[in-house]
Amino acid sequence: MKLTFLGAAQQVTGSMYLLEIEDYKILIDCGQNMEKKKPEPEAIKIENQKYIPKPVFPFEASDIDVVVLTHAHIDHTGRLPLLFKEGYEGQILCTSPTYYLSRILLHDSAQLNQKKLKKVLDKSKNSRKMPDFANELFFSKHVDDTMERFVTVATNQKFKITDSISVYFNHAGHLLGAANVIFTIKESGINKTICFSGDIGRKNYPLLPDPQIPPKVDYLICESTYGNRLHKNEKTPEQALYEVIKKACIEKQGRLIIPAFSVGRTQALLFTLNKLYQNTDLPRIKVYADSPMAFESTKVYEQFVNQLNKEAKNFYEDNEELFDFENLEYIQDVRHSKALSNHYEPCIIISSSGMISGGRIEHHIQQNLENAKATICIIGYCAEGTLGHELIHGAKEINVRNKKLEVRADVVILDCFSAHGDQNDLVNFVQIQDSKTLKNIFLTHGDLEAMAGFEHKLNSLGYHQVLIPAKGESFEL
Ligand SMILES: [Zn+2]
Repeated sequence: MKLTFLGAAQQVTGSMYLLEIEDYKILIDCGQNMEKKKPEPEAIKIENQKYIPKPVFPFEASDIDVVVLTHAHIDHTGRLPLLFKEGYEGQILCTSPTYYLSRILLHDSAQLNQKKLKKVLDKSKNSRKMPDFANELFFSKHVDDTMERFVTVATNQKFKITDSISVYFNHAGHLLGAANVIFTIKESGINKTICFSGDIGRKNYPLLPDPQIPPKVDYLICESTYGNRLHKNEKTPEQALYEVIKKACIEKQGRLIIPAFSVGRTQALLFTLNKLYQNTDLPRIKVYADSPMAFESTKVYEQFVNQLNKEAKNFYEDNEELFDFENLEYIQDVRHSKALSNHYEPCIIISSSGMISGGRIEHHIQQNLENAKATICIIGYCAEGTLGHELIHGAKEINVRNKKLEVRADVVILDCFSAHGDQNDLVNFVQIQDSKTLKNIFLTHGDLEAMAGFEHKLNSLGYHQVLIPAKGESFEL
């Protein structure tokens, strides 16, 4: 069988792997590349100066037999509708929550595409010609077509794909529904096992159960986002958030702006805030969850309470809700979102995108960055080229929506809400594997530096079969 790394190779985003077993082709994840510094070329220039769109995928979409998803995040699912647009007709296998969360995320992407296209067409009023990048856009109808092809599969049970291929979904923490996907493939009478880690969560994360340990396999494809670093673990999310709010909103009497992904991270924050208001003396400062997607996703979390951790289950049993405290307001409308700038009382604004790369958060950053009373709290990974990345690295001045702004607000970085495991968590994930029988560990989903650090650590633990594949590279397994 042949494994080809088509994305998240020597970078974090764009997860996509092709597994070919004789004529049968499985695509694992189909994610969007969000690395701004390494964009996909949109067109290829040919000799007569005309541009032809580059192929959307480096394979024929109609040749793929089945797609298997590790989880719903857009860097793992964001190109699925393009796959259907390009002629894919098969099924998408995933866990039940992944289906519901993907539907929310993909419809949101379709709306963004619609806006992007309208903007370009409005600019070139005389021509209704589609822009060069139109083949990279999908719209609501493509998402509807895509959602029809989802098939949900139970976790912790073998699911037979063909007579010789089965798949097993193992809880990965990280996000509701996230899983490691483990294939058992019979080839020439021999069983081979291969585990795609997807994104690996961490222990004691708000709402989510701890990641399960996968079984022993022959080949491991392992994420390495935080392969070279350790989370600062001294405080619980409740303690850490309490301290940030106390300083930002009570001592400084200012606004606290928290960029957060609407799906996953926002629920972790809201649940933690809910507990804080219930268990501490924290004054009931107004909390704005400024994202329609956040509102929809919280409903999915409540729909799958049975898949959350014990603490969340107990909380739900006692309160019949997880995210519904009286000083919380969900903001749906864009005008209402912008009007938050006129709210002068101390408040907490949670908005996306989490890396500060587009979305409503950009407006809040623009309005508050030069205000020394404001605090911006970064709680997750920010890819190179995003404003979040610049703030984490201590930029004194950043360019927000074409406007240069001085960084006068306090910038605070909190580790405890990061949904990715650190080096220790990743080592725990790998160490169940026998270094003598494991054939290869392929590192993906990380910056080169993080991968090199993780490789070094694994080597020191006796795992010398580590590979760092380049994009497009194939391996016979
Ligand atoms: Zn993820």
